[in-house]
Amino acid sequence: MDNCLFCRIIKGEIPSAKVYEDEYVYAFKDIHPVTPVHVLVVPKVHIDSLETLNDENIENVIHIHRGIKKVAEITGINKDGYRVIVNCGKGAGQTVFHLHYHVIGGTKLSEKII
Ligand code: 5GP
Ligand code: ZN
Repeated sequence: MDNCLFCRIIKGEIPSAKVYEDEYVYAFKDIHPVTPVHVLVVPKVHIDSLETLNDENIENVIHIHRGIKKVAEITGINKDGYRVIVNCGKGAGQTVFHLHYHVIGGTKLSEKII
């Protein structure tokens, strides 16, 4: 996906503030953080969204969740708690169509989801 923003970030063509990386996932600071800690965890393979997960690529979800736990540990937000958000589709506010999990924390989060 040559013109996918997050594929380009993963390849290092666009700079990003890396928080964690392994064979399967890349995690970097969101450019417009909504909380003191706001990290995006993305699979290294291009997947448009949750809606395009299938039997062939579903294993990435395990790797993403492992990456989220690493990010929470590295940033220290595992102590007080954090929230994980996936916007799926335009109607939910998805603007970048490369699957990404927002990991937010570092402050008291509202008790309601929205
Ligand atoms: P979405 O709205 O698709 O769920 O989330 C996309 C996120 O990507 C937004 O929170 C936005 O701030 C972030 N973002 C967009 N462009 C860039 C970029 O070039 N670098 C980084 N680090 N984050 C970006
Ligand atoms: Zn991509």
